[in-house]
Amino acid sequence: SVYPDHALKASDLVSRAEKALHIAKTNGGNRYELYQPGTVTKTLERILLENELRRSVEAQYFELEYQPKIDLHTKHYIGFEALVRWVHPDLGRIPPDKFIPLAEETKIIIPLGEWILNEACRQLRQWIDEGYPPLQMAVNMSSIQLEDPNVDLVVQAALQRYNIQPQWLEIELTESAFADRKELSETIERIRAIGVSVAIDDFGTGYSTFSYIKELPIDTIKIDRAFVQEIDNNKENQAIVSAIVTLAATAQLQVVAEGIESEHEGEVLRELGCEIGQGYFYSRPVAPEECVILMDEHHQKE
Ligand code: C2E
Ligand code: MG
Ligand code: MG
Repeated sequence: SVYPDHALKASDLVSRAEKALHIAKTNGGNRYELYQPGTVTKTLERILLENELRRSVEAQYFELEYQPKIDLHTKHYIGFEALVRWVHPDLGRIPPDKFIPLAEETKIIIPLGEWILNEACRQLRQWIDEGYPPLQMAVNMSSIQLEDPNVDLVVQAALQRYNIQPQWLEIELTESAFADRKELSETIERIRAIGVSVAIDDFGTGYSTFSYIKELPIDTIKIDRAFVQEIDNNKENQAIVSAIVTLAATAQLQVVAEGIESEHEGEVLRELGCEIGQGYFYSRPVAPEECVILMDEHHQKE
């Protein structure tokens, strides 16, 4: 299986090579096979699930929950991250980890991602119209969506449709979007040229080295929960976070710590120079009606 045509991640390349191996063996062995997208034998469950996912995009069986990002000094809300949930009439509420990989593989993520982006912008517009200050809305985007060279036009259309200033929107991308593929970084630059900021999500879990931070076309680094967990008594994690904070400062990037689960973790992160945090301690991702209650409690209505 060949990078980058068949997969972007090493683990996916290996599993695709294994599929080719399986075909070589069933065809008698002692031969070579190249992975062929589409010729993979799909299980019945898989076909049913894929059809169900496709149907659900048309029927709009999806909802967005929002998790606040907070200023670790003032404890004020500075934004929300939109997180998608598949709400299926028979199967119930399905978390993104269970269907985003399938949506990516089948490219269903392209129409689904467009719906997510528009819904997040629509929601932000509604809150602004209700008198809440324009907090920044972060939307996760898959690298499959970035492969569409017109994705910047999709972003621009959503901003215009709901009269959203570009600086109120942030796009979160994982490291695979930056895996030296020239076309993708050009697309990222076009999104930034609109005035929308770009964050690197789950930072530290991929393969980019720290020194690489300066070269990335980004505005924000989101430090993965793996480094935030028990930061209050893990010296190694403290050293990693402070190295990221220092490098980010020289590159003038914003740093967000993800997955803060206790007050003490938040305090330690703030002392290490991390300004913004997100995590269950402050709030889980919640339905829009609950966001409004949270914003009211924080006296953030103008
Ligand atoms: P992510 O973008 O890194 O989002 C953070 C995940 O960590 C969310 O899980 C969130 O609920 C969870 N989380 C937040 N705070 C804490 C905490 O304090 N402790 C723990 N244990 N977990 C915490 P969720 O909503 O299940 O989403 C998982 C992943 O699915 C996301 O990771 C993102 O990569 C993907 N995803 C979610 N929504 C979308 C979307 O709209 N589009 C795309 N392309 N991907 C999405
Ligand atoms: Mg995210
Ligand atoms: Mg993350």
